[in-house]
Amino acid sequence: MSVLVVGSTALDSIKTPYRENPRLLGGSASHAAVAASFFAPVKLVGVVGEDFPGRYIRLYRRHGIDLEGLQITAGKTFHWAGEYEINMNNRRTLKTELGVFESFTPKLSRSHQRTPFVLLANIAPSLQHHVLDQMHRPKFVVADTMDLWLNIALKDLLKLLRRIDAFVLNDSEARQLTGENNIVAAVKKIHRLGPRFVIVKKGEHGAILSGPAGMFLSPAYPLHSVIDPTGAGDSFVGGLVGYLAGAKGPIESSLRRAMIYGSVVASFCCEGFGLNRTTRVTRKHIEQRARHLEKLARF
Ligand code: AMP
Repeated sequence: MSVLVVGSTALDSIKTPYRENPRLLGGSASHAAVAASFFAPVKLVGVVGEDFPGRYIRLYRRHGIDLEGLQITAGKTFHWAGEYEINMNNRRTLKTELGVFESFTPKLSRSHQRTPFVLLANIAPSLQHHVLDQMHRPKFVVADTMDLWLNIALKDLLKLLRRIDAFVLNDSEARQLTGENNIVAAVKKIHRLGPRFVIVKKGEHGAILSGPAGMFLSPAYPLHSVIDPTGAGDSFVGGLVGYLAGAKGPIESSLRRAMIYGSVVASFCCEGFGLNRTTRVTRKHIEQRARHLEKLARF
């Protein structure tokens, strides 16, 4: 089954203590769509400006990503710039230039409206609503977010939580949303806001899934070196939803494995700038790492 991915399609300028890389392919939807494409057909919904390099369009195509929902309009592509400290868990946003995103209204074709799996990657909650309004009875809807929307669009976000099956956020966002310092208590509170499944990302410390069948703890794949963690969260959720869409049987029976595959794709993302490493990986590499992770965590 296929996955509809909506989110930001961006040019990212990323600075680490060792290197600087301007205008890489980035955006929550780009990372999530490439990650999902290893497991299932993907349809991308987003907007870019006329300055968006043709090589990035070709890169989406190489991953078999359907670009019918990618609008190319007059103006500049969304540009995000960020800087990492030596401890790469600490990141500072240097610039957010909305460009063509300022007037973006996602419009879905009839075939897009019937896509069974929907991934509302990080983007303004009003746009996530706008996509959901157009969908025709999706089978499973997953939404991601970021601290910015908790700060400036909380009302829209809370409304969204009543419309989705699974909500993905990181640990600091879970604390901010609920006012709970304890993550288990925070997860319980988030369930009460609507979603049946809550997934909390904890960066290099893995992720927690909570649902009707209880909790599952997924480790992160241990890496020797992290080059650029930008998009790791988006890759995690993209891999997770892609795996679910590609799996047979009830969704509940695949969720734990989907957490592992999400973690594995996220690990590749961290090993290169932007999408440089993820786009060179094959399904075989992913399977090898998934097997290794399984060995590391079994007891
Ligand atoms: P992550 O590292 O998972 O937090 O995701 C980083 C990605 O989010 C980058 O590729 C950015 O282009 C994108 N991004 C940054 N700020 C925003 C924003 N305000 N809305 C949507 N996407 C954003």
